[in-house]
Amino acid sequence: MKVTCESVWNNCLKIIKDNVNLQSFKTWFEPIQPVMLDNSVLTIQVPSQFFYEWLEEHYVTLLRKTIKRELGEDARLEYRIVVENSNGNSNPHTIDYPNYNTGNKNPEVSMPLVIGKSIKNPFVIPGLKKVQIDPQLNPAYNFDSFVEGDCNRLARSAGFAVAQKPGGTAFNPLVVYGGVGLGKTHLIQAIGNEIKSRFSNKTVLYVSSEKFTNQFIDALKNNAVNDFIHFYQLIDVLLVDDIQFFANKDKTQDIFFHIFNHLHQGGKQLILSSDRAPRDLEGMEERLLSRFKWGLSADLQIPDFETRIAILEKKMYADGIELPREVVEFVAYNINTNVRELEGALISLLAQASLNKKEIDLDLAKKIIKNFVKSISREVSIEYIQKVVCEYFDVDVEKLKEKTRKRAIVQARQLSMFLAKNYTKNSLKVIGKHFGNRDHSTVIHSCQAIQNLLDTDPEFKDNVSDIKKKIQMSIA
Ligand code: ADP
Ligand code: MG
Repeated sequence: MKVTCESVWNNCLKIIKDNVNLQSFKTWFEPIQPVMLDNSVLTIQVPSQFFYEWLEEHYVTLLRKTIKRELGEDARLEYRIVVENSNGNSNPHTIDYPNYNTGNKNPEVSMPLVIGKSIKNPFVIPGLKKVQIDPQLNPAYNFDSFVEGDCNRLARSAGFAVAQKPGGTAFNPLVVYGGVGLGKTHLIQAIGNEIKSRFSNKTVLYVSSEKFTNQFIDALKNNAVNDFIHFYQLIDVLLVDDIQFFANKDKTQDIFFHIFNHLHQGGKQLILSSDRAPRDLEGMEERLLSRFKWGLSADLQIPDFETRIAILEKKMYADGIELPREVVEFVAYNINTNVRELEGALISLLAQASLNKKEIDLDLAKKIIKNFVKSISREVSIEYIQKVVCEYFDVDVEKLKEKTRKRAIVQARQLSMFLAKNYTKNSLKVIGKHFGNRDHSTVIHSCQAIQNLLDTDPEFKDNVSDIKKKIQMSIA
């Protein structure tokens, strides 16, 4: 078979796939295109400068080894970087992103215990039985629109397992917990929607804890507590959002405890969400807490960079929007608090762009995102870092840009690069420019050298923490 750049790259991809996690593979390797093979030099095309630097910083060893395996010891890799057209009159390069609707998206979760068939409900009031209950679900919150990542894998797959067999797994109750905007409501509603579509005869109900509490208070006022209880006892799949709201509401907890027991004994499914782990819930009755621990508690974490890119891409795809790759990377890199803010940033980007009738390029994105991330506006400059470091070591700033190999200067130079990388959002290329036009690989090397020193030399570490304090004071 003829060896082509495609065949070589395909073989490389097979190896790479086994060595990185799926999300990283999709983010950093699928967008790469092989373009040329010249003896043992393989040229690959990457979508941006940032992308290239990321590969060089995080995957260079893997890439090198893999290519050597395919093309022999002399193998070399060269990059071609697609430069976005910033004047906006021609299409920027677009990338085919992974399609999340296909593939092995729902890994098996082991189910150690299967609960028996449901028991007939003895409490149903006859007339109520035929009442159709609206599940109160938002159809947009489904599994397809919920991007999977390391941050949510357990919760998502447990949720998916529950949706296949509501009431029939050990995950009962399933408690999904995590900070605001991390996808609790989305995920539990996705479970509800999935169950509704699989088992149309099941009565599914989503309710926030606040609504549940208010309904109960109304029932108390109207002498209708029994109706309230009976209504909830009709449900096959009960989704209760934000149960931390029950804290210190003894009567509500009491009634919820009885409903919980009734449903659980009847083999009905309970799915709860909370802003913290059940063990950390305060103001909650012990007997209720112990019920929450019967099933499975799974947390949602802040998505990593790759997952943030995937979430943005998913939203853009759903809304039919295209943005330059570097803009997506910029947003994903800078908004690292939660998914809601990530979406907020995307929305304000689009709003501003349509208001100003302007294409969104990196400059515009930077301006808009600045309002979102206070730290960007308070970012220190590379010059400032150089000044602080040089004052500390009593070195002339200009020397950092020269070729001098004197130990004290080399160290000040490397440390300034290291801090510039950690305290600013500049690319390695830009950082290198500030040090007498050094290239990005010098910056990577410097950062590694400093990290080694930090790990091995306690005195140096103390010096660095003094310097860091000085820098931090200027941004505080
Ligand atoms: P929470 O209930 O934890 O505060 P939400 O479920 O309301 O968070 O999520 C906030 C927003 O982020 C919603 O618009 C939701 O669709 C979106 N979101 C959260 N996690 C994901 C994910 N993994 N994939 C896609 N969208 C997500
Ligand atoms: Mg919520």
